[in-house]
Amino acid sequence: MFDFGKEFNSYWRSFIRLLYPASCVLCRTPLLIEESNICRECLQKIEHLKTPFCQKCARSLPPYGNYRSICSACRSEKPYFDHGFALVPYNEPVKQILHEVKFHKKLWLLQIFKNHLKNSLFSQELSHYDLLVPVPLDWWRIRERGFNQSMVIAEMVRNINSKNKLPVLNVLKKRKRTLPQSKLRREERLANLENAFCTDASPKIRGKHILLIDDIFTTGSTINECAKVLKQYGAEPVDFFTIARAESR
Ligand SMILES: [Zn+2]
Ligand SMILES: [Zn+2]
Repeated sequence: MFDFGKEFNSYWRSFIRLLYPASCVLCRTPLLIEESNICRECLQKIEHLKTPFCQKCARSLPPYGNYRSICSACRSEKPYFDHGFALVPYNEPVKQILHEVKFHKKLWLLQIFKNHLKNSLFSQELSHYDLLVPVPLDWWRIRERGFNQSMVIAEMVRNINSKNKLPVLNVLKKRKRTLPQSKLRREERLANLENAFCTDASPKIRGKHILLIDDIFTTGSTINECAKVLKQYGAEPVDFFTIARAESR
């Protein structure tokens, strides 16, 4: 049947595109009528995380000999977080997309990952959680950037399940400025994050199953420090979700 609304929308879109040609945010090639923000070629370059992966830190494991599906780093370092999930490896074009989100305020680009999230096995795990807790930014960074990308991702995760929306609680605070963790050695990372996070919401988190949310898992020390604080105040268990997972560590 002729769908007037759809046809009108499509003509309108073509008309607007004719007046204001758009190009791919990543590679700058002109976009086709049916494409928005990012061209099909760039979208196709987004990979999926290779299975199997470590149940704790979401690192891809070799397909053979995965001892209890926990990687050697997690077995020796025993992180505070219990389980981890990530959607995509932290490679191009994901690096560039997250850079555009954070440093050029293109928040809508996070919607690119919505389908990855909907189709992931992780989306079925969401009903197990009591609270979604975004990894906080320090006050200076919030002032400079104007938003916390982890908060935006937490809202996206929350809206995936329209029937049972989980509460997003900003119970963690970052009370000091820190250096980028990826540029530091292991001992320096621990010192850099020491006492960086705090919470004043212990009755709200005691005994709660928490999902910590961030954009990228790189060294894991930020998420680990946040999980440590939440557990000190009685949260149990504490898992994490990130859009991207760096392959090192
Ligand atoms: Zn492109
Ligand atoms: Zn691991």
